[in-house]
Order: sequence, then C-alpha cells, then structure tokens
Amino acid sequence: MGDTRIVLSEREMPQRWYNIQPDLPAPLAPPINPATGKPIGPEDLAPIFPMELIKQEVSMERWIDIPDEILEIYKLWRPSPLYRALRLEKALKTPARIYYKNESFSPAGSHKPNTAVVQAYYNKKEGVKRICTETGAGQWGSGLALACCLFGLKCTVYMVRISYDQKPYRKVLIRTWGAEVFPSPTDKTNAGRAILEKDPDSSGSLGIAISEAVEDAASHDDAKYSLGSVLNHVLMHQTIVGLELKQQLKIAGEEPDIIAGCVGGGSNFAGQCFPFVKDKLDGKKIDFIACEPTACPTLTRGAYRYDFGDTAELTPLLKMYTLGHRFIPAPIHAGGLRYHGNAPLLCLLVNKGVIEARAYHQKEAFEAAVTFARTEGSLCAPETSHCIKAAIDEALKCKETGEEKCIVIAYSGHGFFDLASYEKYLDGELIDYEHPDEKIKEALKDIPEIVEPGA
Ligand SMILES: *Cc1c(COP(=O)(O)O)cnc(C)c1O
Repeated sequence: MGDTRIVLSEREMPQRWYNIQPDLPAPLAPPINPATGKPIGPEDLAPIFPMELIKQEVSMERWIDIPDEILEIYKLWRPSPLYRALRLEKALKTPARIYYKNESFSPAGSHKPNTAVVQAYYNKKEGVKRICTETGAGQWGSGLALACCLFGLKCTVYMVRISYDQKPYRKVLIRTWGAEVFPSPTDKTNAGRAILEKDPDSSGSLGIAISEAVEDAASHDDAKYSLGSVLNHVLMHQTIVGLELKQQLKIAGEEPDIIAGCVGGGSNFAGQCFPFVKDKLDGKKIDFIACEPTACPTLTRGAYRYDFGDTAELTPLLKMYTLGHRFIPAPIHAGGLRYHGNAPLLCLLVNKGVIEARAYHQKEAFEAAVTFARTEGSLCAPETSHCIKAAIDEALKCKETGEEKCIVIAYSGHGFFDLASYEKYLDGELIDYEHPDEKIKEALKDIPEIVEPGA
C-alpha cells in the first residue's frame, strides 16, 4: 500500500510556470476590440493591467521563471500535498486509485492566492497603488486582499450582492486583510448605477461586478484591475499546481488516467491539467473532465463564439463558450462557478475534444461532498464538490469493469465559509436548477457578430 500523503520539500517546488500557448493544437483566437472589430494590442490593455502581465498574456515562451519574491511567498502554503483517498476507495469498493491534490491550505483556503500574489507583485513593481476587482462567493476577493496585504497595496473589492448578504464571513476575511468591500451593484460607478436604476433590488452578478471594477480601475490613474480567472496569465500562474502534481504522481509511481476538476472561469482545473495536456496530444491516454453546474452550463450548453467578459460591455471580446454576458445565474451555492463565460484556452481544448465537459446538479454534488467528508474527513468547497461527484462516478464505473484506473481530483478549496449551504443540504432544503434553453437562445441574441480574424 502506498503513502497517504505525498509531500514535496520547499526545495523541490517548481521554479517556472508552464505556458501552454506554444503547445496548443490550434492557434488561440485573439481578443477583439469591440470598437474596431480588430484584435487588441498591448496598448489597449495598459490602462487596466501592468505591462509584465500583458506580456505573459500573449507570451509564446513555454517556460516562464517564477520571481524569487513569489517563490518566497509561495512557501507559506506550497508545495501542497497530494493525498491518496484510501478511505473513499474502500467505501466505494472500487479497484480505482483515487488521489486529490489539495489546494485548501493557502491562507484564503483555495488555489486563488497562487495567482493573486503574482498579480499584486507585478502591480507593486510597476508603481500601482490600488487594485480593483470583483468577487462572487468571496474566494477571489479574499485571495487578492491577502496578496495586496502582503505587498502593501490598497485593494477594492466589488462583491456580488447576493453573496455579500448571504456569505458574511468571506467579507470579514477581506476586511481583516485590510481591503475595502462593497456590495455590487453599487452607486459608485456608472455601470452599477445603470443596473440599480432598472432594478434597485438587483442581486448582482459576476458580469456586473467586473464592469464596476474595470470602470473604477480605468478611471483612476494609480489603480489597476485584476481578474482571478479566465485570462491566459492567470491559468499559467496556476500551473505550479499541476507541475507539483506531476512530480508527486511520479513519486507514487502513478500515471493519471483521469483528472477531474471544477470550472468557474477555468483557472484551477487548467492549472492542474495543462502540464499533462501535451502528453495527451503526444499520444498518451488521459481523460480530462471539466465539471460545471447544470445551473450555469457554460461548456456543456453554451455557444462557442466571441462575447464580452462583463455585463456593461467594457471588456474586450473573447472567443469562448458563453451563456451570454447578460446571464444572471440561479442562486446555487457554488458561487465560484456562476460565470457566463470561461477561459479561452480551456474552451479551445474543449472544442478540440482534448478536454471533456460534464454538468452536475447541486444536490448530487453536495451528496458527493458529504460522502467525501465522511470518508476522507475534509470538507470541500461547494465548487469542488462537482469534480468529487465526477471522480466518484468514474470510480464506480471501474467497479463494474474491474479497471484499476488512477483518478485525480483537483481539490480547489475548503468549505468552512459555506456551512450555511451544507446546512441547507443536510436539512433537505436545496433545490436543483436547470438553465432553460430559451434563456440561452435569448441571451445569445445580444452578442455582437464577430468574424474571427483569418477565419
Ligand atoms: C474560484 C473557485 C473556483 C472556480 O474558479 P476557477 O477559475 O474555475 O478555478 C473553484 N473552486 C474554488 C474553491 C474557488 O475558490
């Protein structure tokens, strides 16, 4: 029997991030400036992002060195342990071997600080004084608040109103790390005021909160904007997780057959699986399963086309699977998975059939989370529960076929701030939502038609 915890020493921590762009099976469609219909250049992004991150966004270098200052901070929670889920395997009576790469040990409790500290670092280096951002359930807001605190930067967080009201403790965490946090829509921005005028009781959405944060950053000289997922550089920062995973599986004498992760904007799953994608393109058999909620079925039922990243149409157009940028999600408890779009890099790989997508209802996902808690002990974030469900399904299939597959769960975070959701599940009060087809069709009508350059 192998080890339960496979740990790396600080000295074994990867020193470089992996940039998948040179290894893609097809070129990535460029972001488009909605005003001109042409691909955007670095100068279009300069008002809201520091130059070093813009360079990383379009870089074709396969490996990018992690600055020493970042390596020092990463050591606060990295390398993260890889666990063998022996008790879960036993309970399921499966011949499969199940592992989970546990990102819940960062101070904010998820993978988010892996990129937050990098973004804060480059902003600080380029003289920025304040970073603006949005947050859904509060995980990204708390991750960035932590990072800004470590680098002595001010931080302004626009938090989706429904989470602000329903998840009070993430907000306290954000404030404890010294950031300011407002329920979005606010009356502080044009984007927020426009929404409030139409609907004073708006519960908000990530799309709206992004509009507010971008507007705040663009209208203040000493402020920039930061995004916690979706963009190429964010996914690249998260590859430290998959690079560690690769070393740890090697120590365990394993090759992964399946890697399952939950997707909101795609960053944690991309971080775990991108370092293995090249192996698959070179002929190795690995199944990558991207798991999303049926209430926000971006990859499984969205359209693959250009759309805005936000509600007020302030961002460039990105080619991605989308439910339409005016999408307002049903109030499911996996707040981090309620985004209308998804990372262009991940979408391309889904479109090319390299990554498979599946959608799950929240009740079956919570059921899987509780099974996990009662076997492995750890209480996962509601987001993470979606890929635990996929892993359990796959392990049960192995029971039928007798296959001894190696299944890896991308364990993105803990659920200690989501106990109200667990209580609802345990009390039988959770409701499942299916996003209706008509709503998708209707929302897609609002998207401008873009002809892809070179297509
Ligand atoms: C934010 C978050 C997610 C979803 O975001 P991705 O960019 O898709 O990773 C998933 N799990 C947890 C715990 C999160 O905090």
